[in-house]
Amino acid sequence: MESKQSYTISKFQAARQCKCPRCRTGKMFEGSLLRLKGQKMHKHCPHCGLKFEMEPGFFYVSMFVSYALNVAQFITVCVATYVLSGQSESPWVYLTACCIVAIAMAGFNFRYSRVIQLYWLTPNLSFNPRYYGVKKADEKNTATS
Ligand SMILES: [Zn+2]
Repeated sequence: MESKQSYTISKFQAARQCKCPRCRTGKMFEGSLLRLKGQKMHKHCPHCGLKFEMEPGFFYVSMFVSYALNVAQFITVCVATYVLSGQSESPWVYLTACCIVAIAMAGFNFRYSRVIQLYWLTPNLSFNPRYYGVKKADEKNTATS
């Protein structure tokens, strides 16, 4: 059993690396997190063929996750600004700091709101060890169809 544990990666590790929640091998997004052209998500997992947007409007839930992430970041930034600016009372200082963080973290929030939704807010989707690891020839055909 121990060898099987080292064979697969943990759920948190897979989520952090934006891997497909079913196979934990295929990447969910194209390009890197710091890509300036905007974030693009694969329609299907390049490894196991899982359709990420299971139904139309599936990712509306990730909008609420993204909102929660933004609120957490704004609170953190406001507290940090309060401390670093020597208890500034100007609202423009906080507003500017929040705007900069919102723009800088947009890609991160886009990715991880969808990752959180697929990993923790979709009950009928779980890891299947059958799909993990090296791609087989017959799986390659089902993934493209
Ligand atoms: Zn997959």
